[in-house]
Amino acid sequence: MQLTDEEDLHNAVLHAPIGICILNANSLVAEIVNQKFLEVAGKPYETIFGQFYWDAFAEARPYYEDALANVVKTGEAYYANEVELMLIRHGREERIFVTFVYAPIKDEAGKVKKVAVWVLENTSQVNERQNIEAARVAFKRERDRLKNFFMQAPAGICILDGPDLVYELVNPAYQELLPGRRLLNRPLFEALPELAGTPLQEVLLNVYRTGEPYQMNELLIPIAEYEGGPTTNRYFSFTYQARRDENDQIDGIMAFVFEVTGMIEVQQDLRRARERSDQQTRVYETITSGTPDLIYVFDLNYRFIYANQALLSMWGKTWENAVGKGLLDNGYEPWHAEMHEREIDQVKATKQPIRGEVSFPHAILGRRVYDYIFTPVVNEHGEVEAVAGTTRDITERKLAEQQQVEYTKALQAVNEEIAASNEELVTTNEELMAMQQRLEDTNQELAASASRLGMAIESTSLGTWDYNPQTGELYWSKECRDIYGVPPDIPVTFALFSEHIHPSDRDWVQKEIEKAIDPEKGGRYDISFRIIRFNSDETRWVKVHGSVYFELALATRFIGTVLDITDMKEAEKQSARLAAIIQSSDDAIISKTLDSVITSWNAAAERIFGYPAEEMVGESIYKLIPEDRLDEEPQILARLKSGERVQHFETKRQTKDGRLIDVSLTISPVKDPQGNIIGLSKIARDITEKKLDETRKSDFIGMVSHELKTPLTSLGAIIQVANAKLGNSADSFLVGAMQKANQQVKRMTAMINGFLNISRLESGKIHIEKQNFDMETLIADVIEEANLTTSTHIINYNQHQPLLLSADRDKIGSVISNFISNAIKYSPKGKYIDVSCIVRDGEVILSVKDEGMGIKQDDLGKIFDRYYRVETNHTRHISGFGIGLYLSSEIIERHGGKVWAESESGKGSTFYFSLPLATS
Ligand code: ADP
Repeated sequence: MQLTDEEDLHNAVLHAPIGICILNANSLVAEIVNQKFLEVAGKPYETIFGQFYWDAFAEARPYYEDALANVVKTGEAYYANEVELMLIRHGREERIFVTFVYAPIKDEAGKVKKVAVWVLENTSQVNERQNIEAARVAFKRERDRLKNFFMQAPAGICILDGPDLVYELVNPAYQELLPGRRLLNRPLFEALPELAGTPLQEVLLNVYRTGEPYQMNELLIPIAEYEGGPTTNRYFSFTYQARRDENDQIDGIMAFVFEVTGMIEVQQDLRRARERSDQQTRVYETITSGTPDLIYVFDLNYRFIYANQALLSMWGKTWENAVGKGLLDNGYEPWHAEMHEREIDQVKATKQPIRGEVSFPHAILGRRVYDYIFTPVVNEHGEVEAVAGTTRDITERKLAEQQQVEYTKALQAVNEEIAASNEELVTTNEELMAMQQRLEDTNQELAASASRLGMAIESTSLGTWDYNPQTGELYWSKECRDIYGVPPDIPVTFALFSEHIHPSDRDWVQKEIEKAIDPEKGGRYDISFRIIRFNSDETRWVKVHGSVYFELALATRFIGTVLDITDMKEAEKQSARLAAIIQSSDDAIISKTLDSVITSWNAAAERIFGYPAEEMVGESIYKLIPEDRLDEEPQILARLKSGERVQHFETKRQTKDGRLIDVSLTISPVKDPQGNIIGLSKIARDITEKKLDETRKSDFIGMVSHELKTPLTSLGAIIQVANAKLGNSADSFLVGAMQKANQQVKRMTAMINGFLNISRLESGKIHIEKQNFDMETLIADVIEEANLTTSTHIINYNQHQPLLLSADRDKIGSVISNFISNAIKYSPKGKYIDVSCIVRDGEVILSVKDEGMGIKQDDLGKIFDRYYRVETNHTRHISGFGIGLYLSSEIIERHGGKVWAESESGKGSTFYFSLPLATS
């Protein structure tokens, strides 16, 4: 600033909107002070104006005196931005925030004459900012606390962040719903693309837009187990709620989700079961409604819980106004109702059927006579839970009987009178004939009602039969004949039936029939047995169900149904056999659905993993998988789906008590008849012991090798010293012998090093130490060393430009050396060995080609296995332990590279390894 008119400066300062105080640069005495400055300073005018600046602001002096002096000295302004200051204002110490400038005011010669102090107080802004910051921290802490709660909640909870609905938080229960899906930090519709375009998308966007919560129960959502996989129908109940930031703006959605598929399935099963039982009831009803017999069931409070059509029409009532009512309500006279109630009590107490005869008026037919049986209905605990009854109208029969008595009487009378009057004889005869006609009519009517029942029964799809134990007559429906294989033209008899019961079942079936028709014991008949079919001698299983009707303590009617259950029995037998095998297996055998839900769990699985079947069936298999191996499950599934077999897959699993065990898994798909995979069956073998054994073995080898190394090292040293001492000795034998000894010691050291490396590798003690080196030089070095010890083969190699690599130089060198020494070992003397190194697709590929014996295709896949050696007459005399290639492949794989070989038996082999350039 230039010093201009004193007067102007003065005015400008006094009316400036910020605090200004002009100091004399030499004395630092305040020459002009405006009102704003006084407000910030909080001191009276006279303590500043005309005073030495640092007398006025003694409390700030230690901090800013130097800065001010410097402005005077250098002529450069000093800025302080929002600094905290302790100032005595209005006699009190106050902490304030200010922004100020010490600005030099120079004269024409550029000399600092005055210093302007510009000051602006920011205390309230800074405080406000700090408050906002504190509120923000508190808000964030609150949000974190909520997150913690979410993470532990049993319901699936997730937070979708921002308008793209990115999964910001997924609690374990939510992830458990979709174990094979990667969700965190991905937008919802990218992580679960199958939801895009469904109504759910609209719902979510709406919640985000309007902030209105949304709740939905039992929504069907087809969702895939893994990304891109086929969807399965699952049901979820959920709530979406908008999340708001500290400014109350919507910045996400919180979702609470419960899976209710299991519940819905149970409901569906229940509905199906109900439909089945309804169907059963319909079949049953068809039978009972066709019969003229009255069929009914009482509960233990004497209320009708079932009444067939015949009974309803006898009452003249409908199902709705009769069933659920007692005897009196349904029009029984009090004596009659009481009698039946007593009988019901009796049946309940004795669990025995009772039988009686009664006469009462029918709605249409007038007074009738009835014969009835009450039978206990016993539940699975052996308790009587209801009483079933059948009543038969025997009025006609009674009438017939009565008429027969009358007829006999009449006949007697006739006989008595026959001698007396011949004329009378004629009339009596006529009467007799008429009477006989009536008797016949009655009988026919009885027969007709029986055939009505037969027809009713025939309308069902079961095989039915009707047997009269008194006459031995047997009737079979068409279905029944089909089951037994009897052609329509062959008459059915009881003997024929009995003959074709399987010999091992015949006796006891016969006894069951006898028992059923014994009025004391039976009435009921419900058994399964084998039959030999009539036309093919084939054995089949049938299930027979029947009931016997008694008249005056004689079984007159035995009717029932028959069903071919061979397939069911076979399936049962087979599954029982399978179940026995599975249960007795030493290996854990587990089956599971495509959603990884366990459906069966055998005894060995319990032994190996520690969980009993009750705890695992219905649970997810992920309970067994250690956290770092969670991706194995979807990988296995994908392999199976692509038709690949998964056998002897070695991995680790977690037991109930938290141990990690080694297992070998063999997994096969379970398919439906159309060949679709519907589940997986898994055999897990506990190989922990085997693994331990291997570790012990390799530890032992490691120890022995280590012990052998020490004496060998001193042996080597002794030979070296001896060699040096021999010097130019004339004893050519000794010189040669020493050289050979030296070579053998080297060979042995190499072998022992191999073993040591194996055991280090297995115990995880081999580390890759990367460094930058030139691959071409390394190859040249290795070849040079090989040439030192062998002169039997010609090794070709064209060195190119330097090729810089970052890898473990020594270990890569040992791999090349192993390839070359194998090429020498396994090819005849004088042959060529070609080494080459190229760069392709971001990889370095090294190869060693020989003209040796080659390797058979079968062996090619195994030579990289530990201790594997090809057994032929040729190789038998070549020493080795089968560890070189194993070590080589491990080293290369740990560098992220690959090892392989190509070979033609008898012609030669080429060994390759590749190393990625980028990560190496
Ligand atoms: P070693 O040579 O000590 O037996 P390696 O692990 O180096 O062990 O090799 C494993 C096996 O692979 C050898 O035993 C040999 O049968 C076969 N093999 C390795 N290299 C060659 C080769 N260049 N030509 C033929 N066979 C080979």
